[in-house]
Amino acid sequence: AHTIVLFTQDLRLHDHPALCAALRSGDTVLPVFVLDPALLRRSARNRVRALPGILTELRGGLRDRGGDLVVRRGDAAAEAAALAKETGADTVHLTEGVTRTAARREERLRGLGLDVVSHPGLTVVPPGDVTPAGGDHYKVFTPYLRAWEAHPWRAVLPAPERVSLPGGVDPGEIPAELDEGRGETAERPLRLGEEAARHRLDAWLESGLAHYADRHDDLPAGATSHLSADLRLGCLSALEAASLARDEPGGAEFVRQLAWRDFHHQVTAAFPDMAVRDYRPRGARWRDDAAALKAWKEGRTGVPVVDAGMRQLLSEGFMHNRARMITAAFLTRTLRIHWRAGADHFAEHLLDGDVADNYGNWQWVAGTGNDTRPNRSFNPLRQARRFDPEGVYVRRYVAELADLPGKAAHTPWDSTAADGDYPPPIASPGS
Ligand code: FAD
Repeated sequence: AHTIVLFTQDLRLHDHPALCAALRSGDTVLPVFVLDPALLRRSARNRVRALPGILTELRGGLRDRGGDLVVRRGDAAAEAAALAKETGADTVHLTEGVTRTAARREERLRGLGLDVVSHPGLTVVPPGDVTPAGGDHYKVFTPYLRAWEAHPWRAVLPAPERVSLPGGVDPGEIPAELDEGRGETAERPLRLGEEAARHRLDAWLESGLAHYADRHDDLPAGATSHLSADLRLGCLSALEAASLARDEPGGAEFVRQLAWRDFHHQVTAAFPDMAVRDYRPRGARWRDDAAALKAWKEGRTGVPVVDAGMRQLLSEGFMHNRARMITAAFLTRTLRIHWRAGADHFAEHLLDGDVADNYGNWQWVAGTGNDTRPNRSFNPLRQARRFDPEGVYVRRYVAELADLPGKAAHTPWDSTAADGDYPPPIASPGS
């Protein structure tokens, strides 16, 4: 018999429970990826552009093992069902998802008469595996972390050695280029794919992790793993990264960040409207201010640390976590512009942009999410002085401030050396 493995956010061969389960069933396995135009249109162009390379590499890995990657374009459920009909398969294995899109896909597959078996693989601890007494999900991080830490992890799975494919199926073409989606493209995006992800993880374990606890908030150092896009696309398994890091120096702090990722995923599984609705409505009042929103998006607010973050996003499709907090707080707390406008802009540009992590974090910063102190104050200038004390991060991304030495880069309004093109602050940056 034949079985389909439908790849979604799990574009890898290592630690792939759905693929391993399908292979264990003894059937010939048809690995499938469907390019869904409706999904591509909604995704960040930056990430869509990386897909052909990632899929080609995945196909190469499957071919080396005697299999192939069957690629189709259209609605994922309909294409999988058509392939099932063509080959006589009746089961689809896939990796669990937490979004509405994932839930609808599963529903559609079942509606088309297929048996759907979903497997862990998205997070370290699967979303439903730790739940509080009397509730379906944890709303606050600290108790979640305690339960998460006490929960055993499944074993990391090796990449399969052989994949046998049913004969006669047209593998379909992977387009040489995909230029669809939202947002402008970054000039300097990360190289993606399973091999690049594994190299990045190795290098990180070897020389980055040990300094993580001390340096993860250091804006100019950028001394974080840069594994977020690999995790987002599933080129790397979060469980494998966590398992390798856990017992190393610096590992605890890093694994805690992966627990944050799991946390937002289990919240989103329970509240799939995360991208569109307040998780905890607190009656916030938002302002419409198209000019301020535009200045924020372009990195021209006149607040150097905010502009540096926003320009890093545009040029790299990535932003340092500390800068994400500063820029998001500036938009929602200082300018009082709705979190959705900011989160959508992030989602259009981030290589790692993800419903659970992006919108969950935006709501956290905006005070509509799971922060237990939704009214905490956030002063951009103080943040800048603390996390970029010499102004190095700001000068790297804001060329107009290149001539301002040291921390003077944070307060161009006090100086005459700033390029005349740099705008005055559109709102008070604090003092
Ligand atoms: P590291 O510091 O090396 O952390 C390791 C991994 O832990 C990350 O790759 C990520 O998977 C996870 N992680 C770390 N912090 C968080 C967090 N706060 N929430 C969830 N997971 C976390 N992360 C995304 O992956 N996608 C997003 O769309 C996203 N949007 C964000 C929006 C805002 C407003 C904020 C404040 C944070 C957002 N984050 C998002 C979380 C975090 O900023 C990024 O994961 C991190 O900057 C990625 O860099 P890194 O891989 O070097 O992180």
